[in-house]
Amino acid sequence: MERRKITYRLYPSKGQTEALGMLLRSHQQLYNAALEQRIDAWRRRRVSLSYQDQCKELTSLRAECPEFTVANCSSQQRTLRRLDIAFQAFFRRVAARGERAGFPRFKSLDAFPGFGFKSHGDGWRFTPGADWKHGRLRLQGVGTIKARGQARQAGEIKSCEMLHRDGQWLLSLTIECATIERQGGCAACGLDWGVESFATLALDDGGEHIVANPRRVAKAAKELRKAQRALARKRRGGKTRQRARKAVSRLHRRLANQRKEFLHQTSAALVARFAMIATEDLSIRNMTASAKGNAAQPGKNVRAKAGLNREILDTAPGAFLAMLRYKATEAGTEYIEVPTRKLKPSQTCPACGRVEKKPLRQRHHACPACGHTASRDGAAARVMLNWAMAQLASPGREPARQVETSADISPPATETPSMAA
Ligand SMILES: [Zn+2]
Repeated sequence: MERRKITYRLYPSKGQTEALGMLLRSHQQLYNAALEQRIDAWRRRRVSLSYQDQCKELTSLRAECPEFTVANCSSQQRTLRRLDIAFQAFFRRVAARGERAGFPRFKSLDAFPGFGFKSHGDGWRFTPGADWKHGRLRLQGVGTIKARGQARQAGEIKSCEMLHRDGQWLLSLTIECATIERQGGCAACGLDWGVESFATLALDDGGEHIVANPRRVAKAAKELRKAQRALARKRRGGKTRQRARKAVSRLHRRLANQRKEFLHQTSAALVARFAMIATEDLSIRNMTASAKGNAAQPGKNVRAKAGLNREILDTAPGAFLAMLRYKATEAGTEYIEVPTRKLKPSQTCPACGRVEKKPLRQRHHACPACGHTASRDGAAARVMLNWAMAQLASPGREPARQVETSADISPPATETPSMAA
C-alpha cells in the first residue's frame, strides 16, 4: 500500500466561503487557546500538557462553549495534534541545542494554514469525478463544494486537509493505492544538467536530446521580479503597497505551480521513455556549494546561476531528482548515480577516454587525440551513459550505486493539479 497526496482547488459559493471562514476562525481560536493553555500550565504548575490532556479538555470545552461546536470534533483533534507536533519539534530542537529553538507561536487568521479531517465520512465526503478528474466535496456545516483537479490514479480516500492560501481554498486528499501504475521505457540515457538548457540526454542509439528550459517558467519568473521591484518602490503602510504585495504573492504561487508542473512532466516523460537513466551523483548540498564555487575553482553552475536557468535550478535539482527517483522506482526504471568526482564527465572524451580539463566557457568538445566532436553537455552525458552501461554489463566490477526511493523521499504533495479555473 502506498500513500499519495492529491490537491484539488475548491470553488466555494459566497455563502460557503463565509462558512469556511468561520470554521477557519474557530480552528485558529482553538489552536491559540490550546497554546495559551500549555504556556499557562507550564508557568503556574511546571506541567507539560500532552495531546491527550488537551483532547480531554476539548470535550469539556465543547460542552461549555457552544461556539466551539461549529467545527467537527475529530477535525479539532487534528488541530490539537498539529500543535502537539509543533511542541515536539520545539523540544527536539531544544535537546539538539545548536539550533534555534523557536517556541510555537500564536497564529493570526491570515497565517493560519487551514484544518484537516481524519476518517473519510466523519464530517466530510469527497466524490471524485470520472477518472478522478474534478469532483465534489461535502463538508459538514458548509455544503457541497465544487473541486477541480486531476489525480493520476485512483485509491481509497483516507484523510484530507483544507488549505487556505491567498484567499483560495485547496483540498489536499491523502489516498491509499494498492499498486502504482507506471510503465517504464526500454531505451537508456545519460543525463547532464543544463547550463544553457535544462538537461542534455545522450541516448543509447547514439543520438542526443535536449530538454529546453521551460519558457512559461522563465516568463513567470520575469513577471515576479518585476512585481517585486514595484513592491519595493511602494510607500510603507499604503493601500497600493498592500495591492502590490498581493500581486507578488499571486505571482510566487504561479511560478511555483508552473515549475512543479514542468518538473513533474519532464520526470514522468523521462521515465516513460527509458529503462535506465544515468546521471550525476549530486546531493542538494553539493549543488549549492558548487553553484558558488570560488575564483580558483568556479562552481559547475556559475553560468546557470547567472542565466535563464537560475529560476529553475535555484530550487529544482533536489526536487527534480527526488521526482525522477521515485517515478523510476515505480516504473522499474534503473536510476544510476555516476561517481562524477572520479569519472569527471565534462572533462573526459566519450570516444577514447582521454581526460582534458575544459574551461566552463568552452561549450564544445573536440578531442585532440581521436578527433571526436560533440557538444560539451552531450559529451558529458555520453560519458555517464557509457559508464553506467559498462556497470550493468559486467556486474563483477564495482557495483553501480543504484538509488532506491528512501522513506523520506515521499511523493510530492501535489500531483500537478490543473490549477486553471
Ligand atoms: Zn577522444
